[in-house]
Amino acid sequence: MRLDDFDPNINVEDQRGQGGGSGFGGFGGGGGGGLLFGLLPLVFSRFGCGGVAVLLAVLLFFGGGLGMLGGGGGGQVGAPTQQAGSARAGTDAKSSCTLNAESKVACNAFSSADKTWAAIFQREGKTFQQPKLVFYGGDGRSGCGAAQSAMGPFYCPRDQGVYLDTSFFGELANRFGAKGDFAQDYVIAHEFGHHIQNLLGTSDKVSSIQRSGNEVEGNKASVKLELQADCYAGVWAAQNRDRLDPGDLEEGMTAAKAIGDDTLQQQSQGRVVPDSFTHGTSAQRMKWLRTGMESGDPNACDTFSGAI
Ligand SMILES: [Zn+2]
Repeated sequence: MRLDDFDPNINVEDQRGQGGGSGFGGFGGGGGGGLLFGLLPLVFSRFGCGGVAVLLAVLLFFGGGLGMLGGGGGGQVGAPTQQAGSARAGTDAKSSCTLNAESKVACNAFSSADKTWAAIFQREGKTFQQPKLVFYGGDGRSGCGAAQSAMGPFYCPRDQGVYLDTSFFGELANRFGAKGDFAQDYVIAHEFGHHIQNLLGTSDKVSSIQRSGNEVEGNKASVKLELQADCYAGVWAAQNRDRLDPGDLEEGMTAAKAIGDDTLQQQSQGRVVPDSFTHGTSAQRMKWLRTGMESGDPNACDTFSGAI
């Protein structure tokens, strides 16, 4: 896909190289700060001002705790400051996005998705909020807890962050056999799709189903959420159709096929357990990515009512 260079004003946070590879041993402190920070808008939207007041009280309490922890390790106190500082974007985004080829691919795709979805929201009279792209290596921290490379890329609704360890792109090509720039773009666009679901309130509905305690129903809802994120990734690609190279659709399909639950389970445990699916089968993932790419319309991505 021939994407423009990223807009230097995209919101990028970089956790790579912090702590000198020794990890964030005590990052419960830093992560806690980030968690509370990220919870503010969430609590506000769900519980209104009363909720925020309660949260602030908790924050003050935790703030004191953080101060005490601060003496123990330099990295932790910096964490919340770092997050607040990411609003500076600009030069930060530039150096983080050009650290290596993978970072640049991620930033270009993120930046393009940002523009595309801002325009879609504007057309539909909805308010768009820019998410942030967070680079981490090995161990990182997010508003949703520890970020570990083994988890693969993920989106954290609490801090509206798309988390990526760029080594995943190598894994995608080598372990999953999904090569090519579009496979990587699809990963970013899928995570961006989760941000769209967060803005539209879809993720909230799914988490309430998951909290209800029925694991099978929770997994089913998760599959619908994931397939919709695949479809949204396709919508983004369709909206940038003039930039697609021959073979991009196939690259996307190969990636979608490789990361289907049935395929992954078959590879790892030699059998398939549909009730434990959380992302959908290879066929379903391919179908919904294709639906997005062919329609270019987010309204075509209704995985919740009807057959998937
Ligand atoms: Zn996902």
